[in-house]
Amino acid sequence: CGIVGYVGAKNAQHLLVEGLRKLEYRGYDSAGIAVIQQNKIAVEKTKGPLAALEDELTRQPLSGTIGIGHTRWATHGKPSDENSHPHLDADHQFAVVHNGIIENYIEIKEELQAKGYTFLSETDTEVIAQLLKEMDDGDLVSTVRKVIQRLEGAYALAITSEREPEKLVAVRLASPLIIGLGKDENFIASDIPAILEHTRDVYVLEDGEMAVLTSDQVELSTLDGKALQKEILHVTWDA
Ligand code: GLU
Repeated sequence: CGIVGYVGAKNAQHLLVEGLRKLEYRGYDSAGIAVIQQNKIAVEKTKGPLAALEDELTRQPLSGTIGIGHTRWATHGKPSDENSHPHLDADHQFAVVHNGIIENYIEIKEELQAKGYTFLSETDTEVIAQLLKEMDDGDLVSTVRKVIQRLEGAYALAITSEREPEKLVAVRLASPLIIGLGKDENFIASDIPAILEHTRDVYVLEDGEMAVLTSDQVELSTLDGKALQKEILHVTWDA
């Protein structure tokens, strides 16, 4: 339902939770974040309100300056800690948050189960994480492009990998996603209010577009790999 992502020099946990709070008005049943902490993906996620996630994070803070976050509105699988996003692959190399629906997830899930994959959730989303492992070619962006070719449905995704811990990938197909452009930091969000406190310069992704973000660069392309130029939208309204 709500997606946020941050890459920069500040504490990601704080920025991700604040961003998710700005998206609360959309409704949700669970929340979670993944932060790359000392080159390892660390996840905290829980059923219930953001306050429940914050309690967990107070007990066990995540330190790191890159991460992704999600508020879930369950479509496949009941609201539960396990079904909350982010979802990881079996080797915990990739973390994914997802808005929307993967129509052909059962087919993909059965194919991966036949190859020995075990699934920890009932979500359609987890097939994306496991497919990233299955189709891993050593390069995050090229692996994401391959995985997307397998997915049918409507989705917006934010993905990170501990092997390329300075990078976030954002993908849009029929579910809104924007990129916020900061100074030495960049943002992903499913809606502008999530980032307005930090920047007013955004790229609005269209269907079939993706963005690769580092702290000082945003590269835009089509899903099949053609480089794109886009106008920066300067937001003049207040949330
Ligand atoms: N289909 C996914 C799920 O049920 C994502 C739902 C959403 O957009 O929050 O976990």
